[in-house]
Amino acid sequence: MSDLLPCPFCGGTPAWSRLGPLTFVVLCRDCHTETARYVAEALARAAWNQRPTRAAIRAEVLREVAEEASGLHFEGWYEVGVWLRARAEREEAGRGSPGTALGGEG
Ligand SMILES: [Zn+2]
Repeated sequence: MSDLLPCPFCGGTPAWSRLGPLTFVVLCRDCHTETARYVAEALARAAWNQRPTRAAIRAEVLREVAEEASGLHFEGWYEVGVWLRARAEREEAGRGSPGTALGGEG
């Protein structure tokens, strides 16, 4: 259990659990988020440890929306794209602000 990384969403303590034959999951004891079900503990453990942080997910979403906005060729959308990319960089640097349109508690 010691090789499980802290919860990517709340920093809480994770634990793996055997739900049945060939059914393993890793879940957070604090916020109860969990991985998909896997046939082996090692797979559940690997999936947990590879999960992106909420900030990384937000940054990816912002980049995707910025890319989409850049392709619209309407006046003003270029600036929107620039703003979104800058916001994505702030998210990755851990400086995103809570309560944005993308939700989450930061
Ligand atoms: Zn958690």
